[in-house]
Amino acid sequence: VAGFDYEFSYLPEQRPYVVACERISKVRARTLLCSWRTSHDEGGRTATYSVSGQTRRLDLLGRVLELDLPLVCQGVDGALSPGRAFELGVGIADLFLVGRDINRGEGRLVLRSRKETSLYYPVYELASGRAGLAMLEARLRISEDVLADYALGRVEDTVALEELHTAVEKVMRAAVAAEQRLNWPELRRRCGTLGLLPNAEEYALVTHDAEAPNAHAHTPDGVLSELAERRNRAKHEPRSATDGWLRTHWECVAIIIETLTNHLGTLGGRNPPT
Ligand SMILES: [Zn+2]
Repeated sequence: VAGFDYEFSYLPEQRPYVVACERISKVRARTLLCSWRTSHDEGGRTATYSVSGQTRRLDLLGRVLELDLPLVCQGVDGALSPGRAFELGVGIADLFLVGRDINRGEGRLVLRSRKETSLYYPVYELASGRAGLAMLEARLRISEDVLADYALGRVEDTVALEELHTAVEKVMRAAVAAEQRLNWPELRRRCGTLGLLPNAEEYALVTHDAEAPNAHAHTPDGVLSELAERRNRAKHEPRSATDGWLRTHWECVAIIIETLTNHLGTLGGRNPPT
């Protein structure tokens, strides 16, 4: 579990926006199993936030706030026009991202309107600027949004299943030599042989759930095979996707994508020729 604190000052006319965003941020944090504590100084000019949660969930929370807070601000009965309120919402989301940045140094932040956020915490980190991976990076950004919405219950299981399957496949293809037109089972096997999937023991540790000790008794390859099977079934029978498997194991799939994208960083997207 990771955590961070940040303190920021705001103007009296910004207060209703700050309060509205604070309420929704706490709700979103709770849904994502993160904790969010707040306090304000007596004069109502400075707020202190303490946020903690699992790293991947904090990444998702940041993305969700970026999407939601501008809209929340537009709904506030305050002094700002809808357009200005939107920008203030971007500014409030930006405080979370900057507050989380370990390199920001000490001191209080200041709330200001923004056209866009200044930082971004990708859920799936690819070594940026790597030739040929820009498309994949853009594609994974979409997967992150779908995943963030799925975690909040805004996206159907069928959609998330398809999206995760596509993301894993694209990353696996990028990780093995691109000229090889392998089908899904071959691709999986090849990634396994090359050691690109998570190590089984580490995987068991990171997917372990103390409240349901036997729920994740699976190998990375087992999860990928389930994923493919369910995705194929859902194509013909969309309702089959809502049986709860994805709800329980979406993070297990996310971990595999993360491991693969980490390898892409070190391999430069290619394996040595075999
Ligand atoms: Zn699992």
